[in-house]
Amino acid sequence: MPRYDYRCRACGSTFELNRPMAEANAPAPCPGGHDDTVKLLSTVAVTGTASGPAARPSGGGGGCCGGGCCG
Ligand SMILES: [Zn+2]
Repeated sequence: MPRYDYRCRACGSTFELNRPMAEANAPAPCPGGHDDTVKLLSTVAVTGTASGPAARPSGGGGGCCGGGCCG
């Protein structure tokens, strides 16, 4: 079951709910009991493509330097 993040506009707290996709847009009362909540973009793990630091240039030397990671 997917997890969705919500933020309460009444008290500003964020919370998570596990609910079916069919109910993703259904009202989600915050733990404080407020109904004025908005659904946040969930950080769904993307499989596959590189999401790390700068992509390593193919064939180029010293791919690490330049990004500040070499000191
Ligand atoms: Zn609230």
